Amino acid sequence: MVASELGCSDDDLTSIRPVRRSIDARSRYPVVRLTVDAYVHEDAPVSPREVDWCRPADPTKRVLIVGAGPAGYFAALELLTQGITPIVLDRGKDVRARRRDLRAIQQDGVVNPHSNYCFGEGGAGTYSDGKLYTRSHKRGSISRVLQLLVDHGATPDILVDTHPHIGSNKLWAVVQAIRETILRLGGEVHFDTHVTGFAMRTTPKRRIAGVVCANGSELLADAVILATGHSARDVIDMCVKHDVAIEAKPFALGVRIEHAQALVDEIQYRQSPRDPHLPASAYKLVCQTNGRGVFSFCMCPGGLIVPAATAPGEIVVNGMSMSRRDSPFANSGTVVAVEEDDWQQFAAHGVRAALEYQASVERAAFAATGDGSQRAPAQRLMDYLDGTVSATIPRTSYIPGHSSVDIRSILPAPVDARLRAAIGEFGRMMPGYLTNDAVIVGVESRTSSPVRIPRDPVTREHTSVAGLYPCGEGAGYAGGIVSAALDGQNVAQSLMQQVFTHAPR
Ligand SMILES: Cc1cc2nc3c(=O)[nH]c(=O)nc-3n(C[C@H](O)[C@H](O)[C@H](O)COP(=O)(O)OP(=O)(O)OC[C@H]3O[C@@H](n4cnc5c(N)ncnc54)[C@H](O)[C@@H]3O)c2cc1C
Repeated sequence: MVASELGCSDDDLTSIRPVRRSIDARSRYPVVRLTVDAYVHEDAPVSPREVDWCRPADPTKRVLIVGAGPAGYFAALELLTQGITPIVLDRGKDVRARRRDLRAIQQDGVVNPHSNYCFGEGGAGTYSDGKLYTRSHKRGSISRVLQLLVDHGATPDILVDTHPHIGSNKLWAVVQAIRETILRLGGEVHFDTHVTGFAMRTTPKRRIAGVVCANGSELLADAVILATGHSARDVIDMCVKHDVAIEAKPFALGVRIEHAQALVDEIQYRQSPRDPHLPASAYKLVCQTNGRGVFSFCMCPGGLIVPAATAPGEIVVNGMSMSRRDSPFANSGTVVAVEEDDWQQFAAHGVRAALEYQASVERAAFAATGDGSQRAPAQRLMDYLDGTVSATIPRTSYIPGHSSVDIRSILPAPVDARLRAAIGEFGRMMPGYLTNDAVIVGVESRTSSPVRIPRDPVTREHTSVAGLYPCGEGAGYAGGIVSAALDGQNVAQSLMQQVFTHAPR
């Protein structure tokens, strides 16, 4: 087909390389579109692995990276390409050891505050859905991030798919391979290393000199990248204690809604069962209710709802999937944008007000189920709209189990009102969505950080502490794996310019 399109014979083609693959499900029969680069009488170019370009390391330059999530690890890779061997510190365990703690949350309801779905090697990105699409096109080269993931073992399909996806069962090995690259090129990665304080120098100007760890050790460096993710509440407290400026920031709050995947396929593909060549179908829903956006968030076709709490005494849910996306469930965060007027009640907490508001909802979800486990509050979708506590909760993908609760009693009233209105609207947009076989599981509260750590837009250095580089989702500059990775790269580049290229400061 390619040869006839080009007017040559099959023998003239030396190579065909896929460039883009997408599925258009709008027509009666979904269409798969494939764009390829074809090479006629010439070889396809081979690009060297980027990590092989690294410059010789300069042992006199020390950069600490706090957090081994996508932001921290991609910052580390970027520094290595510039001849800096970074030292990465993470409070959690390596990606394999972390699995035991995930099992403990799922099966016994025990939350390890240092090793869970958010904390540990690979950060929140590892045991996630592994969706790699992003709107952050202006922040850097997405294809470069994806290529680095492929260089570390991800399927090359992610380079061509419009909605690239890796899946939790494959992500851990990619994360481990990135760590091996960092170590092979001379960097260091330390697990079980909880950073609890900053070492500051105040003359000639306020400048970070390093970090203090939970065991009391002080690690000194020329610069510190702070890439601790959206759930590191103690890091926010650390900033407050050390007078490092932070700001409350809008985020989004709501629930997960789970449908049968077969129903979503029927709605989206108009096929039941779906053609086995088609992937589990997804949806994206968004509307405005009473001046605020309400939207589906982190949709996980063929996925699972997981307990994403980072401390005992709270219930937080999120979604993940395996590479095959073959669970019988389709879940999606369904969240309402929240802003300053929502957390007025917590204004006394100052810059921590949004965080306290978020935490109060998570504690209310925990209290509502009442037995101290990770069972989550749940309600059938139509019962939620009717305000009826569900007599039974159908089977869902959430392993720790549920308690039948009126979700309205957990959510702040303005969030509940907007969510309710939006769900009705979503039912009109997606006929079949409104069914009492769908289940609401609460609460989806860690959509992004409730705090921003301000930085200079050009130098990316903290606005008042020299040498400190807030990075990734926790600092409020990313939302997702790829955007966090891009931010890590950008921060590393800025740091190189500021700390090691410019005249001494
Ligand atoms: C269940 C789940 C599913 C998700 N699915 C997707 C998805 O499909 N696609 C997508 O794009 N995004 C997804 N996300 C969001 C994505 O994972 C995050 O946006 C991304 O990981 C943010 O990267 P980060 O490096 O900024 O922070 P994180 O990934 O949160 O990493 C922060 C790291 O810092 C460490 N840390 C925190 N505090 C300290 C401290 N005091 N000392 C030392 N170390 C510390 C933590 O252990 C952690 O490893 C999901 C998140 C979750 C929880």
